[in-house]
Amino acid sequence: MNHKTPDKILLFFAHPDDETSSCGGLISKYSQLGTNITVCTATNGNKGDLGTGDLVLKREELGDFREKEELEVLNFLGTSDVIQLGYDDQGLELLDNNVLEEQFLDILKRVKPNIVITFGERGFSGHTDHIQVHLNARKAFNKYLDFSSDNNIKLYYTAMPKFIAEIRDMDLSEDEKLPTVGIKISDIWTNKVSALRLYKSQQDAQDVANMFESMYVGNNFNFGDSKANFSSLFDSFKKFNYSNEPTEYFHQAYPKLKNYKNIKLLNNF
Ligand SMILES: [Zn+2]
Repeated sequence: MNHKTPDKILLFFAHPDDETSSCGGLISKYSQLGTNITVCTATNGNKGDLGTGDLVLKREELGDFREKEELEVLNFLGTSDVIQLGYDDQGLELLDNNVLEEQFLDILKRVKPNIVITFGERGFSGHTDHIQVHLNARKAFNKYLDFSSDNNIKLYYTAMPKFIAEIRDMDLSEDEKLPTVGIKISDIWTNKVSALRLYKSQQDAQDVANMFESMYVGNNFNFGDSKANFSSLFDSFKKFNYSNEPTEYFHQAYPKLKNYKNIKLLNNF
């Protein structure tokens, strides 16, 4: 395995669109580099919004619609390797013990990824499905370690730099505020926005697309009116390899690093 370009990345997420909101740039970038990307989505998102713009859906058709939508979006981003478990939205907490964990473990055994990415402890938004995906992916990953012969396998959580999380007042765990890898998505971040736009059923996805469009100008952070404050903030983190280019951040959860304080951000896995 080339250190910079993993052969296989496996993503565990909860709802159709989670993968694109948090990793759309990564999916686009690494699939172009030849990495095999498998996306596992646990629910069909059937409690979500019933369409945006002209699109008006019935509640009973939403689950199927969102699963199809996800396949189209991921096809656009460069992968057709999608595993949809089809559970009810907000239903993962109600599953019997170990059901999801065992399914995740089977998928790990089948895919044999070099890199696994999932939510961290707070699920990035506190959503119970996100937290259940985190807990079960973590447990399945730990079991998989006994099975796998790959000594370089790594587990990552989606993350955000602490200083940005604080500005946005986000409720994240310490790990989720401690990125160890920042995947630069300069030039292709617009693919992520286009992909989010394709989630026509979901206002959330449109909102994340709007946020990205207001966040960047070209390949730089759009500081807007608060340029002086933000520029100096980014400058103060330059020594840790932070840049103001469009970036997706991840925390290395396994193997555990010795010292997460003062960690210098890597640009690849
Ligand atoms: Zn979600």
